[in-house]
Amino acid sequence: LSASFAKAKTTLKVAVEPTYPPFELLGENNEIDGFDVDLFKAIAQASDFEIAFVTMQFDGMIPALQAKTVDAAIAAMTITAERQKVVDFSRPYFRSGLAIAIKADNTEITSLESLQNKKVAVQIGTTGAAEAAKIPGAKISTFDSSPLVLQELINGNVDAAINDAAVTLYAIKENNLKSIKIINQLLTEEYYGIPTPKGSPYLNDINKGLAIILGNGTYNRLYRKWFNA
Ligand code: GLN
Repeated sequence: LSASFAKAKTTLKVAVEPTYPPFELLGENNEIDGFDVDLFKAIAQASDFEIAFVTMQFDGMIPALQAKTVDAAIAAMTITAERQKVVDFSRPYFRSGLAIAIKADNTEITSLESLQNKKVAVQIGTTGAAEAAKIPGAKISTFDSSPLVLQELINGNVDAAINDAAVTLYAIKENNLKSIKIINQLLTEEYYGIPTPKGSPYLNDINKGLAIILGNGTYNRLYRKWFNA
């Protein structure tokens, strides 16, 4: 007789902020969905752990990781030197960059330089907010989420919004927004990574899973699913 006992799988608590489509969003039946969400599920399957998503605001994630109330976050989070001081990151999984969004009929704003002394909307705690803070004389309005940032521009309360290009482009396309556009020239080149608390015992498994799905076609399938590429 041989008895086999399935080893209980580890469950990682993963922070997510579901208003950042196509990376994080609420899909049918209010299920957390998106490229990042599918990606993390595939990583978990490849590395044989379970995940429980915990919803929180983007700017709460780094503090939550530092306090170890979550084991990881998946949030289109750019790997930055500043964040690396307080959290660890997986290997990069997505190349991104910031774009300036303006009204479709605006011909005056053509670059970062032309945002001097203008009104700019950004999301709190993001690389977009950090970039906007460098513009001389700009009046910055800060919002909790990306949809609120774009709404402020649509409403005409600001001259521009700075956000991750893929997210703004997706919002324009998905909602058929005719009143806003992006300036083609990206402001930055950024790479998303999965952050964990410093010294996390799970970072290895996350990187291992990421390597597996990059190698076996799963990453490419998910990329095509969410970016129609
Ligand atoms: N990539 C940006 C950052 O890391 C925005 C992320 C987000 O708003 N979810 O700051």
